[in-house]
Amino acid sequence: MSGHLLEIRNLRTAFAIAGGVVRAVRGIDIFADKGEFLGVVGESGCGKSVTMLSVMRLLSENASVKADLLSFDGMDLLRQSPKKMRMLLGDKIGMIFQDPMTNLDPLYTIGNQIMEPLKLHRKMTSREARKRAVEMLDLVGISSPEQRLKQYPHEFSGGMRQRVMIAIAMSCNPKLLIADEPTTALDVTIQAQILELMKDMQDKFATATLLITHDLGVIASTCSRVIVMYGGLIMESGSTEDIFYRPEHPYTIGLLSSISDVGDTGRKKLTPIPGSPPDLMNPPAGCPFTARCDSAMRICAKARPQMTETGPGSGHGAACWLSEAGAATGKAGRG
Ligand code: SF4
Repeated sequence: MSGHLLEIRNLRTAFAIAGGVVRAVRGIDIFADKGEFLGVVGESGCGKSVTMLSVMRLLSENASVKADLLSFDGMDLLRQSPKKMRMLLGDKIGMIFQDPMTNLDPLYTIGNQIMEPLKLHRKMTSREARKRAVEMLDLVGISSPEQRLKQYPHEFSGGMRQRVMIAIAMSCNPKLLIADEPTTALDVTIQAQILELMKDMQDKFATATLLITHDLGVIASTCSRVIVMYGGLIMESGSTEDIFYRPEHPYTIGLLSSISDVGDTGRKKLTPIPGSPPDLMNPPAGCPFTARCDSAMRICAKARPQMTETGPGSGHGAACWLSEAGAATGKAGRG
């Protein structure tokens, strides 16, 4: 089916709502390989979270998910029953979300919540699951794990709760970990510790990790490859080095300058990109960034540019008419 651990081809996800259809994801291709740390970045509403929820089939009933291929570990995810999907999640696919309290049940001890998937997916006895739970809490840096197992989520700080979520997500040794804004709710010091922990866990378990974030700083410190999304489409993808040092797409360049401008005070100043994202109930026919792009040309509003690689086999590409023109004339990108 696919040589990649995860392969998504031409994914389209739409939501039927009162007054129309929101085309949240409009035909994207993504792959991830074993042990890879892949970042998906973009502003809120760009489709990055919906993409991952589409993979996990965790969307509401008004969602329609279509793809030419949605393959994970040799399985066609579009053909799996809801029961099979539930068995995959928490076993081969681990998940971490922004707010651990939405996933941790306040009525059950932390121990119960780590042991539950081990008993369900790995058929462990209570004694085996408890042993593994202690190991996992220790691994994620929670001291006195034997005692902590008996405590409830409200007895843990925000950072500690996210460590518990990582322990739960990794306990069954998943092949893929999907982390959606895992550090957004945490302060900067704890954020760095959690990202470091995720890197450690990825190294230890050789798990492919998909990190979804609006924060390029988070990407820079963790990911080896990056996908930049906007308006339900992929604007640019490449190695983290390519994206940070040789960005091609005006949107990526705008995102980078929004975090790198230095004001008179010598401190970093945020320069938001003027304008707002497109209305995905009436998505533009051409490039979704046209209305906000300083380099927009007449063709941009009319036709959607295809992803164009900066060089043969470079793995770095941008969906922009400027890149297409550069490729046609044999000129290197704008790096
Ligand atoms: Fe700007 Fe046109 Fe490129 Fe879109 S295709 S990013 S509007 S130059």
